[in-house]
Amino acid sequence: MKKLEFLLPAGNLEKLKYAFAYWADAVYAGVPMFSLRARENQFSWETLEEWVKYAHERWKKIYFTANIYAHNFKIKPFMEAFKKMEELKPDAYIMSDPGLIYLVRKQFPTAEVHLSVQANNTNWAQVKFWQEIGIKRVILSREISLREITEIHRECPEMELEFFVHGAICMAYSGRCLLSNYMAWRDPNQWTCAHSCRWEYKVYKNEVTNEDLYDSTGRPTNYLPIEGEYYLEEKERKWDFLPVDEDEFGTYIMNSRDLCLIDYIKELKEAGIISFKVEWRSKTINYLAWVWRAYRKAINAVEAGKEYDAKELSKELFAISNRWYIPGFITWDLKEKSIYYDKNSELKEEDFVWIIRDYDSTKKMALIQVKNRIDLWQTLRLVSPILDYEFKLEKIIDPAWELKTEAHGWSFDVRINLDQNPGEYAILRRRI
Ligand code: SF4
Repeated sequence: MKKLEFLLPAGNLEKLKYAFAYWADAVYAGVPMFSLRARENQFSWETLEEWVKYAHERWKKIYFTANIYAHNFKIKPFMEAFKKMEELKPDAYIMSDPGLIYLVRKQFPTAEVHLSVQANNTNWAQVKFWQEIGIKRVILSREISLREITEIHRECPEMELEFFVHGAICMAYSGRCLLSNYMAWRDPNQWTCAHSCRWEYKVYKNEVTNEDLYDSTGRPTNYLPIEGEYYLEEKERKWDFLPVDEDEFGTYIMNSRDLCLIDYIKELKEAGIISFKVEWRSKTINYLAWVWRAYRKAINAVEAGKEYDAKELSKELFAISNRWYIPGFITWDLKEKSIYYDKNSELKEEDFVWIIRDYDSTKKMALIQVKNRIDLWQTLRLVSPILDYEFKLEKIIDPAWELKTEAHGWSFDVRINLDQNPGEYAILRRRI
């Protein structure tokens, strides 16, 4: 029986360190130019080398994401880059383009390849096919049910199966969407999705006649669509019109709710999933640490054959910013509302306050990097990979050693009272 794997994103070097501190077994990191989220990470060849070393020194794994669908002109540079990647010795590559996989399998037969979620694996026949090609692991499509995962595992018991359990999801078939191409000239399948589905859209009514040169907002009327009709217009992109309706509250009509499968870890394990993956390389350390703690607890419990309190862990996940959660497709409950019409990522109960940089155990004071404003006598929550407790803020001291009644975000580092040594990777939160 294979050990379960907890797989986390590493969008930059700091997040990679935090991922391992918060008990990741493995991380995935986008390779410059060849991964779908390359814009959201800070890796270069030099840093990739350093971080492979960092992971391996801790007996952890690191996977390189190289999952673009390449056009002809990218094949040669990809294969040249792959040679460089092989020298860095990652544990596996996450890929999706069948052509590139074919070339990699031919030229680098010992390289371990995991099939990316971008390849949209939805049935056991596809998995069998990839098994024959030499793929070691398949990251199943988000758009399948628990029953289908069970069937796939039954038909292909040798194949390692990975599944996304938490994170943002597309309103389209994962990544197969032209919205971002259309709105921002940024292709989701070429590493550059602009998340156009999250933008704020308003309905605009064309009330001018085409004989007018300009409308009341100063737009030239030759840009306007049909007189008297309603059109969708994105806040930042005036004059791009899409026909649509809205109610009195406006609408974020394409803004999918977020995926959360904290309730289903046991079922997913029983269905055959061995790697539980979290999306969101672009989120803050606070956010990621919070999600990671919750899922690690659930995975540990399931691995040990114990029950876990999914309700309690869900509460923790609702404390951080989210678009409300849905279980994606695994229950096939299509009645479940999947679009969050009101807002984009505004729900949260707790706020990220500070990162702890240093601790003086003699004075019992911590040096803090301020992220959001905090006031004296406020109750804060300290969370680290091993600690979780609340305390009152009794002292704030600025760099000139003056006592303060408040500290503002991103201004300067301050010292605060803290009875217990928080250790490494601790963060502070406050209730909103
Ligand atoms: S615009 Fe939205 S739906 Fe389209 S690929 Fe990007 S995140 Fe997915």
